[in-house]
Amino acid sequence: QVAIACYRARNPGSAEMLERARQVLPGGNTRSSLWANPFPLCIASGQGCHIRDVDGNDYVDMLGEFTAGIFGHSSPVLAEAIATAHARGINLSSHTPYEVELAERLCARFPSLERLRFANSGTEANLMALMAARLVTKRDRIVVFRGGYHGGVLTFGDGVSPVDVPFDYACLPYNDIAAAEAEFAQSGARIAAVLVEPMQGAGGCVPGDPAFLAALRRLSEAHGAILIFDEVQTARMSVGGAQARLGIIPDMTTLGKIFGGGLAFGAFGGRAEIMDRFDPARADALPHAGTFNNNSLTMAAGVAAIDHYLGAEALEALFQRGEDLQRRLTAVFAETGLPFAVTGMGAIMNLHARSGEGAATDRKLLSLLHFRMQERGYYFAARGLIALSLPVGENEIRGFLTAIEQGLQA
Ligand code: PLP
Repeated sequence: QVAIACYRARNPGSAEMLERARQVLPGGNTRSSLWANPFPLCIASGQGCHIRDVDGNDYVDMLGEFTAGIFGHSSPVLAEAIATAHARGINLSSHTPYEVELAERLCARFPSLERLRFANSGTEANLMALMAARLVTKRDRIVVFRGGYHGGVLTFGDGVSPVDVPFDYACLPYNDIAAAEAEFAQSGARIAAVLVEPMQGAGGCVPGDPAFLAALRRLSEAHGAILIFDEVQTARMSVGGAQARLGIIPDMTTLGKIFGGGLAFGAFGGRAEIMDRFDPARADALPHAGTFNNNSLTMAAGVAAIDHYLGAEALEALFQRGEDLQRRLTAVFAETGLPFAVTGMGAIMNLHARSGEGAATDRKLLSLLHFRMQERGYYFAARGLIALSLPVGENEIRGFLTAIEQGLQA
């Protein structure tokens, strides 16, 4: 109660903006994931790894737009790329050089990508990949995993949501090789695709066990199913994403977030023999349209992002910075003896408040820490997600750890 009262007192402008928003957006919201009790902050601007809310409170941004904002805010490099593309005329009603340049770069980076197609979000990319897998294999069933997230409209029977995908699927426990083997033994001939995140992001940053992912590779191949890695979040784990880091190459890959250089983006691709079914010159061509699929602003921003920010050295340094932060957080939690933990991979991680492995999350305790961290000027997701962006340096990390220690004591 005290924390919430402090929060209200600090953020009258955010509360007022939410009231205004409620008149025109349901609950004042247009992205469910941004909702937080008693109301979410309304952020007015950002620069590098710093953001400012409408009340003038400053924060170090430890969320980095749920992993999409890896570049930090207001990058002059991306601004110039977008302005240049804009000056050449956007929405040119045809193909443009930019889309070729971005596609070439992505195919060169990801071992599984021989061909790809662009979309406008990770959600769309996954929808298209599933459609392609089902039509190419002429099979119906999809295998997904509990705690997985593949986009807002793809709901796989959590028993709560009123919407569910309109096709046959199995939702199995993640990192459970025996369950996957049992599913393939029973339904292998009906399985079109396995859709899996190499690390479950929205599910709480649960890294995929390499042996589990390798088993999915083996089972899919043995039964003629298409293995799809959803690398919408994990693409940053190396130049070739988590798949290159793990040395496990799927048949298809879906991408989003970082490769739009900060703008709306999605892509799906894979082996040529699968993706070439989208060749419009074919008699049996699969359809895939979308007004903004190749929009030049996104394509240009993506090319600039890859060329200026997403090289091997920068991504490895970011990965190691994240691993280092996870180690230091674990040490702080151990010292205080409070029931907090961190899980993740590289620079994407989730704080948990729970008394042991497998224990349920204590949401109240986690939100208390969240409030205490906001009071100290550090911003991350209410559900505990932290995603470091490239501008977050040792100074910010040190400040964050000190604030965590103080927050835990408070
Ligand atoms: N897949 C994963 C693993 C994601 O984390 C997300 C978004 O957070 C999506 C798909 C959906 O992407 P988008 O929000 O661009 O539709």
